[in-house]
Amino acid sequence: MRSRHTGLAAALLPAILLASVGSAFFGRFAQAAPEETTVTEVAPGVFFRKAQTQPVFTGCNQGFVVFRDYVLVIDANFPGQVDEVVAAIREQTDKPIKFVFDTHYHGDHADGNVQYKKLGATIVAHERSQPLFESKGADGFEGAKKNRAAEYGSLDYEMPSVYFSHKLIFDDGDQRVELIFFGHAHTAGDAVAWLPKHKILFSGDACVNGAFNYTGDADTASWIAVLGAMEDLGVKTLCPGHGEMGGAEVIATQKRWFSELRSEIKAAIDRGESLDTIKETLDIPFYKEWTGEEARSRTENIEHVFEELSAPAKSARTRRPHQHPHPHGNDLGLARPAAPRR
Ligand SMILES: [Zn+2]
Repeated sequence: MRSRHTGLAAALLPAILLASVGSAFFGRFAQAAPEETTVTEVAPGVFFRKAQTQPVFTGCNQGFVVFRDYVLVIDANFPGQVDEVVAAIREQTDKPIKFVFDTHYHGDHADGNVQYKKLGATIVAHERSQPLFESKGADGFEGAKKNRAAEYGSLDYEMPSVYFSHKLIFDDGDQRVELIFFGHAHTAGDAVAWLPKHKILFSGDACVNGAFNYTGDADTASWIAVLGAMEDLGVKTLCPGHGEMGGAEVIATQKRWFSELRSEIKAAIDRGESLDTIKETLDIPFYKEWTGEEARSRTENIEHVFEELSAPAKSARTRRPHQHPHPHGNDLGLARPAAPRR
């Protein structure tokens, strides 16, 4: 397993190493260096690109898999990241980038589709993401053309053109990648990339490692079940949608967050507590061990779960829309909270 530090991060490496030594022993959960973007060869021809998340959130983590005749990219990322990712691929191989798999429709995972299509790639996603690409995805892209004009201005929105219903398998005898849908998790159309030979899972945002959960499109009860199905794969290496690479414990930790969040909020609702009170008093200590953040700082997650548990009869589709920015800009609710902690 080798790792390459890119760009600015390379120049900052000594400081980063010190920072990561300090934070690696923070609690029981590894916190490496959010300041760096790294490319790691996880298995022969299988690469994980971990994106910088601090001080600037640059986009999603990605994968690329070098087959005999072509390259499959896992997640297109923001348009502004594509050149750097393609350069990283070109350091490994001259083979054509034939396929891009969007784990879901969010702009930080899919808005670079157009550039990959220009390179000759076919964009692939799960069929339940199609209506989301056609509605919220398209709206978000148009918004980003205004808000991030320098990055998006000249680009056209490009959706996937190949959709699968349960599983799509890429197998040339050397590499095997299975794209699998397990159910509604982070969005209604999440899928993951499973490499059974190496027991590597690229999870998209169905599993993240750190304070990166956005629940605006989520069904957290179903999400917990999806994480259970991911655990059943027998994962050795988990390449999350955001945050550091890890093992199966990352899936268990992600599941624990939603399980405890739901049970704590359910108990508070049963005690007759208001949403405001819950936001002030919620305490899930392991979350800070994992992420460095207080659970009560995750306002968006708390509001969403409160609403799910307060209106269980309503479907996700009929719920009142959330007042949160669409996840196309930098403002994904992923930044560290500015509010003072209690
Ligand atoms: Zn997302």
